[in-house]
Amino acid sequence: MTKDVRKSKIETPKERQNRHKAMEAALVLDKIKHDFKEPPKAMDYFYDLYENVHCKQQALHDNKVKVGTMCIQVPSEIIYALDAVPVRLCNGFFTDDDIGSDLLPAKSCPLVKATVGQFSSNNFSDKPDVVISPTTCDQKTKSGAIIEDMGYSVFDMEFPRTKESEESREYWRRSVRKFTKELSTDLNKKLTKKKLKEAIKKVGYAQHLYHKLNILRKNHHIPILGTDMFLVTNAFFFDKIDSWIEAMTALLEETEQRVKDEINAAGKRSPRIVYTGSPPIFPNLKIPLLIEQSDAVIVADETCSSNRMFNDMVSVDEWFMYDMVDSVADRYLKGCTCPIFTKNEDRKRRIIDLVKEYKADGVVYQAFAGCQVYEMEQRSVLEAMEKEGIPILYIETDYSPSHLGQLTTRIEAFVESLKNRRRKKL
Ligand code: SF4
Ligand code: SF4
Repeated sequence: MTKDVRKSKIETPKERQNRHKAMEAALVLDKIKHDFKEPPKAMDYFYDLYENVHCKQQALHDNKVKVGTMCIQVPSEIIYALDAVPVRLCNGFFTDDDIGSDLLPAKSCPLVKATVGQFSSNNFSDKPDVVISPTTCDQKTKSGAIIEDMGYSVFDMEFPRTKESEESREYWRRSVRKFTKELSTDLNKKLTKKKLKEAIKKVGYAQHLYHKLNILRKNHHIPILGTDMFLVTNAFFFDKIDSWIEAMTALLEETEQRVKDEINAAGKRSPRIVYTGSPPIFPNLKIPLLIEQSDAVIVADETCSSNRMFNDMVSVDEWFMYDMVDSVADRYLKGCTCPIFTKNEDRKRRIIDLVKEYKADGVVYQAFAGCQVYEMEQRSVLEAMEKEGIPILYIETDYSPSHLGQLTTRIEAFVESLKNRRRKKL
């Protein structure tokens, strides 16, 4: 063997990271596909999508300007209207979390560490051309500055930390107007009324499809598992919106048929769970998987990587440019139930409503170790659930694959207690 051939076999750090990420993704996909009863056939589109993007690192948006968004609060309607594509940068890979650990304090949120880690190692399938960083939680805010120091183009988008006041609403509206103007200048694209209206309608239609599918989960026979739903909603982070809409339409049709045929994706007596807290982001679907492997089923969620993305639609009175931009801004502030706000009554109300509407037996609240706001808010959420007589399990976790045994024991015990509670009620 010549020296040159031996050299070519040495893996670069980037290749090694990509290989680790592909393994992480493949492992989770394999569990989702094979550990449960037959999923809807239309889920194949989503399984293939994750395999292509996360296992084979295929780019989806080669011919488009990609706008990386650090949080759900960046209005995607404006980005689409400027002929660009939003790519959400919230990251669920342990490989990237590990890389980010060298750059951030040990007790940081794993989601933030993974995002920073991905920038530092530059292992993107669709690398963002520009990054928008809303000043939501402290760790997101600081990580935007760290990413900028790495040489990326980052725009800060100021976000209020109170929600109810007229001042915060006006503050956020100004912020969205400024973002629209700056992005339009940066991309050298003029925002037109027609394009913005089209983008609002398209995102609204995607939300409408999600709502229709979600409502089917209220049925006694649950047609689709929560882990599959997380895949579907997480795919909205990075997929082409038209492809997502098409795949969602097929999934909806099939799921409606499954309801008519009384096909149940869960067990006969599986307790129904509402999931809340720090966002499950592929491939970190550890807790949702453990819940459903323990014979419970997630029927609804209150998280920013899923339900919260589709919650409130833009409501426009007059289709004039400024009214549309302000209406887009309102949708994002009103719909946000992230614990970054001073008070967060909306979140508790929403969890209770979900429990009632989806006839859930209990709630699982996940907080990422290092996420102070979710950790701090848990007490008041637990009290609110107790008042309503809703059992809740609080879990603090990170992206590491260790402690699975301990987590499984706690989740299984909770699921068992929900089953007992149901038996006593009969
Ligand atoms: S948890 Fe809050 S700050 Fe973090 S991405 Fe979600 S909405 Fe944004
Ligand atoms: S989980 Fe907590 S620290 Fe992490 S992004 Fe969300 S709010 Fe910020």
